[in-house]
Amino acid sequence: MDKIPSFLKDHDKLAPGFWFSGKANGVTTFDLRFKKPNCGDFISPAASHSVEHILATLLRNGSQKQNIIYFGPMGCRTGFYLLTVNIDESQAKKALIEALEQAEKIEEIPGAERTECGNYLDHDLEGAKEECRKYLELIND
Ligand SMILES: [Zn+2]
Repeated sequence: MDKIPSFLKDHDKLAPGFWFSGKANGVTTFDLRFKKPNCGDFISPAASHSVEHILATLLRNGSQKQNIIYFGPMGCRTGFYLLTVNIDESQAKKALIEALEQAEKIEEIPGAERTECGNYLDHDLEGAKEECRKYLELIND
């Protein structure tokens, strides 16, 4: 089998940040790398799950909502993927920064009722906000 492109990147050389990953069929993928890979510091499963709920909701209600295709976690828990259409890197980053700023004010995890989520007890609001805060600081530099 062919290796998919993301496995061809040397993950020991990846740094935290906001990175263009690729474009296919009009859809652009960004790697939102919160943590340096393979360095022992990972987003907890509960915080990662809550970041997914919070940022997916805020991005899809934000200034670029019609151009956000998907936001979701990397299985390795070092970051998230953001898939967009019709916007460039700076517009995507701006929409993300707006969502991260709004995340600081969230007091309830969206979609975290039993009927709305497949693992509704596995959430960490404060942990998610802390990860968002640290990532916002990182990409605002
Ligand atoms: Zn969920």
